[in-house]
Amino acid sequence: MVYRISEECTACGDCAGKCPAGAIKGDKKGYAIDSDKCTECGSCAEVCPVAAARKA
Ligand code: SF4
Ligand code: SF4
Repeated sequence: MVYRISEECTACGDCAGKCPAGAIKGDKKGYAIDSDKCTECGSCAEVCPVAAARKA
């Protein structure tokens, strides 16, 4: 089970700065999680205002 960012993402960028592994990259078009870097800490899911970052 890894974390992914779904289509609901509004590209606010809040999660990227909260990822301790530096696994989240993106721009105003959208954000994505590098599954090779993600340690499944869950921080992105906690901060995402629209619940777009979640286990999938
Ligand atoms: S679960 Fe943690 S390590 Fe993985 S992308 Fe989210 S914030 Fe980064
Ligand atoms: S916090 Fe949520 S809405 Fe904002 S960029 Fe991350 S996944 Fe997208």
